[in-house]
Amino acid sequence: MKLSRVGVVGAGQLGRMLALAGYPLGIRCMFLDRSAGAPAAQVAPLLTGELEDAAQLAALASANQVVTFDWENIAGSALAPLEKLTLVRPPRAALEASQDRMSEKALFSKLRIPVAAHAAVEDKEQLQRAIAKLGLPGVLKTRRLGYDGKGQFVLRGPQDIGQAWMAIGGRGLIYEKFQQFSREVSLVGARSATGEIVFYPLSANTHGGGILHYGIAPFVNRKLERTARLYLKRVMQALAYVGVLTIEFFVVKGRLIANEMAPRVHNSGHWTIEGCVTSQFENHLRAICNLPLGSTRALGHTAMVNFLGKMPDPQRLLAIDGLAFHDYGKEPRPGRKLGHCTILKSRAIERNSALANALKLIEWT
Ligand code: AMP
Repeated sequence: MKLSRVGVVGAGQLGRMLALAGYPLGIRCMFLDRSAGAPAAQVAPLLTGELEDAAQLAALASANQVVTFDWENIAGSALAPLEKLTLVRPPRAALEASQDRMSEKALFSKLRIPVAAHAAVEDKEQLQRAIAKLGLPGVLKTRRLGYDGKGQFVLRGPQDIGQAWMAIGGRGLIYEKFQQFSREVSLVGARSATGEIVFYPLSANTHGGGILHYGIAPFVNRKLERTARLYLKRVMQALAYVGVLTIEFFVVKGRLIANEMAPRVHNSGHWTIEGCVTSQFENHLRAICNLPLGSTRALGHTAMVNFLGKMPDPQRLLAIDGLAFHDYGKEPRPGRKLGHCTILKSRAIERNSALANALKLIEWT
């Protein structure tokens, strides 16, 4: 049966783009968020409350046929009661695995997906032992609630230990060997409740300060794409996954090293709105609402650029042929994702030159 009422936990830009993709399909999204001005609340109804508020979560679940997520860090204990009220898609196990970098890496390793050498760190002595074992440079990260480079510290030499501990010590941490990657790539795919799986083309992503700045897609590398698909499929099948799932990888000496996964639509898949027959947002909704998945074929060569901290001048950007502009309706703040643009061209060389022009007009603060 087609489901048409979707409850979404978190009303950020991901939720907003989900809601917008739902309208033509006759799918209505309802959100739960702390803030009445949140990006998705500007386009769809909202319940106001904390994301883990038991009563509001129950109200969201009761009013909708399926619950999904714009924000994946909802405690398993808050989610479990919802399973009695409605469908929870993606499954709780996928959210729980992705919430803790140690359990995420354990899942990857169990599924024979390579990860960076790493160790759990609870105190300074353990950090010293991890460094002795894994070497420097390395990245110290919070196990939980880290995103967009937040809760991370790169250690280049022993002199950095004190500062790293001051910055993020005192919580559950993970120390990872620094990966000398040639590229970062990500693979977005979707799985339906009947086990149908589709994959988007790989995208190549450029980060600054841990935040995605821009990406290009399709990133054509048959061998890497084949391996990435195999890995993503293993995770989807192991978790009986329903919805869109993303894995971000480092490419190190021609091999894929999984960095993390996101059990939701993902920033590195925003290009699919204009760049593919069916966007990641539509396919997430199709998957969780029992509809057939749509074609993931790319329509050309695409670049996606995030707007961070400051919105660019739309007059100048929109003068670039083939550029689509997305404003999330957020208050500017340094480092905050406020919107993005996508450039679609029929040839890679045209895409590259339009991307270079767009980058000149976009300032990251
Ligand atoms: P994450 O929050 O794990 O996605 O990390 C954000 C960004 O920091 C990544 O996209 C990389 O650019 C960088 N990074 C994270 N972990 C490592 C690592 N082990 N080695 C090198 N760079 C890293």
